[in-house]
Amino acid sequence: MKNSLRQKTNEMKDWLVEIRRTIHMHPELGFEEVETSKLVSEWLERFGLQVKKGMAKTGVVGLLNGKRRGKTVAIRADMDALPMDEANKVPYASKIKGKMHACGHDAHVAILLGVAKFFSSIPDQVRGNIKWIFQPAEEGGGGGRVMVEEGVLENPKVDAVFGAHVYPFLPIGKVGVNEKEGLAAADRFTIKIMGKGGHAASPHVAKDPILAAGHLITEIHSIVSRNINPLESGVVTIGKVSGGTAYNIIPDEVELWGTVRSLNPQVREELKSRIEQVTQGVARSFLMDYRFDFEYGYPVLINDPEMSKLVVSACSKGIGKENVEVLKPSMGGEDFAYYLEKVPGSFFRLGCRNEEKGMIHPYHSSLFDIDEVILPFGVEMFVRIIDQYLGLEITS
Ligand SMILES: [Zn+2]
Ligand SMILES: [Zn+2]
Repeated sequence: MKNSLRQKTNEMKDWLVEIRRTIHMHPELGFEEVETSKLVSEWLERFGLQVKKGMAKTGVVGLLNGKRRGKTVAIRADMDALPMDEANKVPYASKIKGKMHACGHDAHVAILLGVAKFFSSIPDQVRGNIKWIFQPAEEGGGGGRVMVEEGVLENPKVDAVFGAHVYPFLPIGKVGVNEKEGLAAADRFTIKIMGKGGHAASPHVAKDPILAAGHLITEIHSIVSRNINPLESGVVTIGKVSGGTAYNIIPDEVELWGTVRSLNPQVREELKSRIEQVTQGVARSFLMDYRFDFEYGYPVLINDPEMSKLVVSACSKGIGKENVEVLKPSMGGEDFAYYLEKVPGSFFRLGCRNEEKGMIHPYHSSLFDIDEVILPFGVEMFVRIIDQYLGLEITS
């Protein structure tokens, strides 16, 4: 049985590669995935699934009702690309300037379509329901949140949800999974320090916000090391500092932009309030005003440990225990977290690194690329997970 599944997914390879490359050459940004969405819905319709279009603008949902009653399992792919130029010189490189699939979402779409092709060819063997979620705007737009708000986890009610991301830190042929916390809450803040501008030679009659910003940057970096329990995780990074126009002018204000990452809600709140307190303290000591804005981003992604165990067990049956790694959480963010807030499930990684082919670049790099062997491999892993969850026993 194992061999016939592998054979079936391998037979799909050329088709999967074509889909992935079509999407790769025509990347679309968040909530603008019009062509990608059309490609997805056309295939789902061809496979005979029930198709719902236009959720969260460009989202598509496919549904396969099994012949026998059972649970409902959902799997999810994200469809959006990134606003950047591709540097790869490959025949399937992006044809659209300033847009690139540098996070592998093109592969996620192809893999899920492969899973749809597989199960729609054996509807009689499906017990329960399988739901395919193709969402827009993972890269910062929170398309997953909108899909959940628009009811993607209802009708029929989803009992478990699984998602995967290609993963350049593991070699091809391996799967990684986090037992519980997988990715961090990713929030952002803006601080404005309002001083008083003046001549650089007369700082005593001005209020120099650049000096205050310098102190603030140092102080903010003491928060994680001095205020957060060392056994917890947190990151505060200031990614942008802007202020001033010339070497001899003290500016009126300086603005700092930063991001905050945490793996539990309590640390999340602690970081938020400490950043504001430290800002207030530094501003006050320099007799200045400040403005602090905090914007909550994606929540922590928390897998259900039982569902993660299921991923480990199902994938191990296909590729051996030695190729399934339990990973430590990463401080990146992922909007799959919104589905996991409502429904138990697990988010896992598909190794896409291939040193020999030079596919070693991280996500969001203009040189990011995947070994396309991952496409049939990803289909097989999802099929195994669904098989085990619904108890179909179509693989061994
Ligand atoms: Zn990304
Ligand atoms: Zn991504």
